[in-house]
Amino acid sequence: MRVKNINGTSQHTCKCGSWIQHWRNYSGQIATECRAAGCSRKDLVGAHVQKDVSYDSSWYIVPFCNMHNQSKQKVELVANTVLVSANVATTCGR
Ligand SMILES: [Zn+2]
Ligand SMILES: [Zn+2]
Repeated sequence: MRVKNINGTSQHTCKCGSWIQHWRNYSGQIATECRAAGCSRKDLVGAHVQKDVSYDSSWYIVPFCNMHNQSKQKVELVANTVLVSANVATTCGR
């Protein structure tokens, strides 16, 4: 799955305290390294992304390093990485 960053989202927060914690709470996965394919950096943040597809413009959270969180390029994810919805109405804000 390829994704693109959504910029200007750092002011958004949720009840989980941080977006990386939001991802941990809802993905059922554990991330110790950036989920951009080939990246092993460990300075993780919960990055807001959209899928690089025309049929889904929803916002999702994935664990990226600071560098990939600021990438203007489309980013290929590590296989099987779960994209957690950034919509708090369907997750922690319920
Ligand atoms: Zn949350
Ligand atoms: Zn990275």
